[in-house]
Amino acid sequence: MTASVLIVEDEPAIHQLLKYNFEAEGFRTRVIESGEEVHAAIADETPDLLILDWMLPGLSGIEVCRLLRARTETQKLPIIMLTARGEESERVRGFATGADDYVVKPFSVPELMARAKSMLRRSKPEAVADELIRGEIKLDRAKRRVSRGVRDVNLSPTEFRLLEYLMQSPGRVYSRAQLLDRVWHNDAEVDERTVDVHVGRLRKNLSRGKEDDPIRTVRGAGYAFDERFGK
Ligand code: CA
Repeated sequence: MTASVLIVEDEPAIHQLLKYNFEAEGFRTRVIESGEEVHAAIADETPDLLILDWMLPGLSGIEVCRLLRARTETQKLPIIMLTARGEESERVRGFATGADDYVVKPFSVPELMARAKSMLRRSKPEAVADELIRGEIKLDRAKRRVSRGVRDVNLSPTEFRLLEYLMQSPGRVYSRAQLLDRVWHNDAEVDERTVDVHVGRLRKNLSRGKEDDPIRTVRGAGYAFDERFGK
């Protein structure tokens, strides 16, 4: 799983619970506590999933939802709305505002996680798939193994995560700063040079210097998994 979730919830106990559980499942999480911050957070990076509390100080979850649906960029963003018991009768109104799903507080964490994943299976299947296959390269998330044709490719944990991230969106170019954020989670010990070093090792392990290189270097921009690889 390499999906990102944005949690909008003003109650610390609940957002901590959500953050903990989503991270345990491999999601990257961001938490904000008010509806007013949503646009800036999404402009910063579009999440794969939004968990939106109904009752927020200031703009309510419903208003946030309506605003997001009115904009082209966020029209289809998967949204799960959290509501307190008693607001349940308002469900219909919630659906009318465009939330994709509903979870009533106090909610069961496994149920919420199951719904989040089933939503991602529809909106971003690569994020939850057990295997990513591009050309002759196969990455098995459950077994943490990579193969190229019949050959096993031995990768370090970092190289594995890097390949997994790039393979999820072939053709998409990521800057070194983005890769540091998403693969290294902004570990203070590493700098952009580290990205180059690991990309170099990943390449060497994947191609052994003689097979087609699936990683594309885009000068001045960053790296991508070549969308033409294997075609
Ligand atoms: Ca609340």
